[in-house]
Amino acid sequence: MAEQLAENLWRLEIPLVGNPLKTLNSYLLTGERSLLIDTGFRQDPCREAVERELSAVGADRDRMDIFLTHLHSDHTGLAPELIRPGCRIFMGRSDGARMLAGQSRDFWQRTYAGFVTEGFSREEMAALWDTNPARTAGPVPYDGYVFLEDGDTLPVGDRALRCVLTPGHTPGHLCLWDAAAGRLFSGDHILFHITPNICRWEGAADSLGDYLGSLAKVESLPVRELLPAHRRDRGDFRERIGELKAHHARRLSDALAIVGADPGRTAYEIAGRMAWSIRCRSWADFPLTQKYFAVGEALAHLDHLCRLGQAERRVTGDTARYYPAG
Ligand SMILES: [Zn+2]
Repeated sequence: MAEQLAENLWRLEIPLVGNPLKTLNSYLLTGERSLLIDTGFRQDPCREAVERELSAVGADRDRMDIFLTHLHSDHTGLAPELIRPGCRIFMGRSDGARMLAGQSRDFWQRTYAGFVTEGFSREEMAALWDTNPARTAGPVPYDGYVFLEDGDTLPVGDRALRCVLTPGHTPGHLCLWDAAAGRLFSGDHILFHITPNICRWEGAADSLGDYLGSLAKVESLPVRELLPAHRRDRGDFRERIGELKAHHARRLSDALAIVGADPGRTAYEIAGRMAWSIRCRSWADFPLTQKYFAVGEALAHLDHLCRLGQAERRVTGDTARYYPAG
């Protein structure tokens, strides 16, 4: 059921079947024109829920624009099929460019080759190719995206929403800031009870460093209400930022301890030695998709340690290995 949060503001709960995130929060701001923030996967359960809830709220679909916080398919999947003529789909420029690049086979082959360098087997990457939700549940090709930059403002009814570029979870992630209401639509930048996944991205030298910088950036806003893209949990905004910083500080020192104790391991092997909240008996039992996220996350921490001058990455042959600095 759509939940009314304030005048002209609704939360739509979209099921993410089989995904550990469980549900997506889409937000609908209504006015002379409406704005839907994030859409769900291009899959029937999401499609049915979003259609049902938009009708329940009585959204005027011919005057509804869509804003995508970032490129992940659980946020973007349905956008091109929900949009009506004369309406616009907005997203951050850098994520938009990446999402369009991600429609080519070439892009994924390059990304996957990078993961083989970091210790994945070719067989594992081939199996991932078939199940990658970016390919199976992401948006159909669409060339009308309107790209936004940091600081751009979107008017919705009597509200003015400012884009806040928050790279880290993805390189072009945008939060939306409603200064008059003290309300931040945080996408996947800040979630309660889930730590946003931070992984390595092509073209971003230090995703975790970017993420920590983006936490500091939103921390300076006088946020009274945080509206995240997953789960209904609420809590204190500043306290949550403190927890996320502490989490990554702990993970960095764990990763550095592993590199120090056993130099010359690949990121894949290091990820296998790090602690994960997933319930599996061993690294070998991890579902492949979870392994992919775990290695991506280990890489973001290793990249940050290299950037801080505490670790070194050396490539010999086709394989990258990590060592303590010096
Ligand atoms: Zn995401």
